Amino acid sequence: MNDSDISSRTDPTSDTVDVVVIGAGFAGLYLAHQLRSSGFSFVVLDAAADVGGTWYWNRYPGLRCDVPTTDYAYSWDPKLANEWEWSEKYATQPEILRYLQFVADKHDLRRHIRFSTRVTGAEWVNHDHHWRIETESGPKVSGRHLVMATGSLSIPKSVDLDGLGRFGGEVYSTSRWPAAGVDFTGKRVAVVGTGSSGIQTIPIVAEQAAELFVLQRTPAFSLPAQNGPAPADRLRRLKEDCEAYREEARWSPGGLALTPTEQRAIDLSADEKRERLEAAWEDGSFATIANVFADQLTNKVANDEIADFIRAKIRSIVDDPNTAESLCPSDFPFQTKRPCFDTNYYATFNEDHVQLVDLRREPITTLTEVGIDTTERSIEIDVLVLATGYDAMTGAVLAIDPVGRNGLALKEKWSEGPTTYLGLMSVGFPNMFMITGPGSPSVLSNMVVSIEQHVDWIMNCLEHLRSAGLESIEPTPTAEAGWVQHVNDCADITLFPHANSWYVGANVSGKPRVFMPYTAGVGRYRSTCDRVVNDGYLGFALSGNGEVRCNDGVVNRLQPDVTAVLDQYEGPSFGALSAVDTRQFMTALTVRRPEGPPVADVVDGSLPGPAGNLQFRLYRPPGEGRRPIVVYFHGGGWVLGDQTSDDPFCRDLCNRSNCIVVSVDYRHAPEARFPAGVNDAYAALRWIDAHATELGGTTGQIAVAGWSTGANLATVVCSLARDAGAPVIAGQLLVNPVVDCDFGTKSYRDNGDGYMLTADAMRWFFDQYVDDEHRLDPRVSPLRMGDFSGLPPAVVVTSEFDPLRDEGVAYAEALAGAGVATQSIVARGQIHTSLTMIDVVISANPLRDKIAQGIRGFFALENVDTTGHTQLAAHSVADC
Ligand code: NAP
Repeated sequence: MNDSDISSRTDPTSDTVDVVVIGAGFAGLYLAHQLRSSGFSFVVLDAAADVGGTWYWNRYPGLRCDVPTTDYAYSWDPKLANEWEWSEKYATQPEILRYLQFVADKHDLRRHIRFSTRVTGAEWVNHDHHWRIETESGPKVSGRHLVMATGSLSIPKSVDLDGLGRFGGEVYSTSRWPAAGVDFTGKRVAVVGTGSSGIQTIPIVAEQAAELFVLQRTPAFSLPAQNGPAPADRLRRLKEDCEAYREEARWSPGGLALTPTEQRAIDLSADEKRERLEAAWEDGSFATIANVFADQLTNKVANDEIADFIRAKIRSIVDDPNTAESLCPSDFPFQTKRPCFDTNYYATFNEDHVQLVDLRREPITTLTEVGIDTTERSIEIDVLVLATGYDAMTGAVLAIDPVGRNGLALKEKWSEGPTTYLGLMSVGFPNMFMITGPGSPSVLSNMVVSIEQHVDWIMNCLEHLRSAGLESIEPTPTAEAGWVQHVNDCADITLFPHANSWYVGANVSGKPRVFMPYTAGVGRYRSTCDRVVNDGYLGFALSGNGEVRCNDGVVNRLQPDVTAVLDQYEGPSFGALSAVDTRQFMTALTVRRPEGPPVADVVDGSLPGPAGNLQFRLYRPPGEGRRPIVVYFHGGGWVLGDQTSDDPFCRDLCNRSNCIVVSVDYRHAPEARFPAGVNDAYAALRWIDAHATELGGTTGQIAVAGWSTGANLATVVCSLARDAGAPVIAGQLLVNPVVDCDFGTKSYRDNGDGYMLTADAMRWFFDQYVDDEHRLDPRVSPLRMGDFSGLPPAVVVTSEFDPLRDEGVAYAEALAGAGVATQSIVARGQIHTSLTMIDVVISANPLRDKIAQGIRGFFALENVDTTGHTQLAAHSVADC
């Protein structure tokens, strides 16, 4: 295509185009460049009079980017790195706006943009597959595709202050600041709001105002921006190899080139922690404070270290102790609301003419003609500055309220919260793309990196549709539901949902409370988006020429922390090593794992077994008095492990269930093959039952538990005890049990490779343990027992991505079918080892609670009734 063809197809006054783009900020400008290069006809619409998006509208004094400008810059035009020199580490708004204007001029992008054109509506016209766009001024525009490049923080939230209309002084909003500026000299000013905007503007307003009242409802965590020249190391790396530097950012967690720390707070000494925190404070950047400890966003104790450190800093800067205390955030973990970066913010409160008004102590009752009334006083002011925030992430798209297929309005569809596939598209809205939409990393990342990734993905998609002669693309309901689940799963293993932040929409009254951004990081997200394409647009229906190509499915079905575990796991090659070497290998692996929670007491002991003493380890929960005993059999394929090998899991089980857990060793194969392990396990059970009182237990209150082949032994001792009439077992907890020797189940086929426990490993374990002719013995394959009646009540846990899943489900069904009270728990997105990986697979914590509740139910410790819980495995995995 030659240049004249391109320019005729991209005439901004044209009414029918391939692509309509709404917004001329960072996203809209890059899109314009790419659409033109690829020969699409398009138009960009923007309500502003010039380019810039958020940097056009936001002009309050003190506004700077709080991502270093070396990184908050386009990478698609590598020459810009040499053509544009940022004056500071954190550039001011005018400088960033000039940068965008420079890019627009350099690439002659303005001619594609209709400025001062506010979009008021968008409707999908089904019969000829296009979007019809209405604007406040000018003709309607039609486009095959619609791209919402409308920004995540562009619609100010409506201000919920009583009497606002009555106030007779000047009122300004940080998000819509007059281009000519505001002079505060000699004036009495009140600023409402202490988020990023308020914190940036307050010190500047204080420099001019005669009196400044800062009205704070919730204090924020703020760090000194330590602004100055652009960081030398980043500049050097950019100059040396710009592309490598940008590429590192693209695959990083937050869109900033850095190596994520692997150091958890617990791994560091007090001095080391202090050193890291001081270094982050001195560095003054999101990259370092977000990277102090690997577990700062998943572990409240680690997070508290950072929060305490910042609170101490605040107290050391602010002279008045009461003011300092009011400025210390206390009701949300650090980083779960966007941290702020300031210049002299806290020191401003040492100025005589600056007063903090703590609205938690004295809420605003109303605004008056002359000022603000709180429950304690009347404050007279001349100027009111509202730094009260945005209707974030969904506000701008919903302000247009697109109407999709079958007249479905997006507002209606999202009435319970936004639902998207990849944060890029939403079911019912064909050919409508969102840049950095809810469900993508967006506001948790360096926005420019995320914007570029979305633009590239969309361009790739548009080109694919064009070359395949297809007219439309839309996600499938299954894919969207799966993505929403995944986004929630990712958020749920972090501390983010613990805050009333704008990330969950908590700042806007009536807004549904849903965690909106994707927390698993820019790099992981990018690889997912790439995978969706490489798998033939997995989760999308593509249509054209009267045909629909639907590639239904869910991307990322594993829990996010399980994915991380699998990425790092290098297991032994079962069969290639001897049993002894395999044991050594596994022991080395367990050395590196977290220890698990402390319990009140750990006692090692031994008990008599049929062929010599058996070692045990007893775990006692905190508190006085006798407790029921859970006899636990460890996993390890009858070959590996001992009474300590599931130590973290036993600690966790002990604390959560409030029971004594006795983990007993048994003889292992191949040295001692079947039925040695069974005989040991049964002997241990009887001994512990007989000696319950000596062990601190309650006589007659005994349950059994086990994981994997340990659960196999647990089932077997239950049947032996039933047949013998003793001991009486109150219940059996079976976690991912081995209950059969059939390697041909669907779960073996689906999950036999790649999820840690492999089918090959299971074959090898069986070979070590038992001769072929004994495999159908119900003491090896309890599923073949025939009569399940009279067995103890059971809690059976199976994991979605475990080769053993189907036999576990079948066992739970067999128990329930025989009238045994059975609770079947299907662990969605989990693998064979998940439950036992304490403090590593955090997503399994709700399941750990559930199984502990099941154990308490065996002993009626609380009013927990497992019989009423009989959720049979008949319900499908997907249901869970
Ligand atoms: P924000 O973080 O939502 O802060 C709004 C502030 O206004 C909060 O302190 C809030 O208190 C308060 N507020 C709202 N309604 C109120 C009311 N009726 N009465 C009293 N106080 C009220 O908004 P923001 O400061 O504009 O920042 C939003 C986001 O924009 C930031 O988190 C950041 O991502 C981005 N931003 C970035 C930069 C930058 O890069 N430099 C600058 C500005 C903004 P409550 O918390 O109690 O609701």
